[in-house]
Amino acid sequence: MDDCVFCKIVKGDIPSTKVFEDDQVVAFKDIKPLAPVHILIIPKTHIESLSKAEDEYASLLGICQITAKKVAEKMGIKDAFRLLLANGSSAGQTVFHLHYHLLGGWGKEVPEMEVKKEKLP
Ligand code: AMP
Ligand code: ZN
Repeated sequence: MDDCVFCKIVKGDIPSTKVFEDDQVVAFKDIKPLAPVHILIIPKTHIESLSKAEDEYASLLGICQITAKKVAEKMGIKDAFRLLLANGSSAGQTVFHLHYHLLGGWGKEVPEMEVKKEKLP
């Protein structure tokens, strides 16, 4: 998609710090990291969101998750990481090219998950 920032990263039209790339997936450093290690894993194919992902993308999404595991190993955080996906603007999605956030590297100061059980209905 022409006006998609992540498609531009895939094409190399805007710079990024890539930590992994193959024919289907790219992983690069988030420009505003929310953890000591914060990598985005994206399919090269433009998929707007998980809600918009058809069944045909099941294996591609699996590849993204396996890539996240491999990137976690490469970044030295394989024993403690979070893999997050925001679906829809109300859930905090700001870039509408499906992506997984790989977060880690906290050491002993692991932040609590934002959603706390006592706040759930
Ligand atoms: P989300 O809010 O879940 O849609 O996540 C989008 C993420 O993309 C945010 O964490 C941004 O910091 C990140 N981001 C946006 N533009 C860039 C860019 N050009 N390079 C790297 N990360 C980016
Ligand atoms: Zn895109």
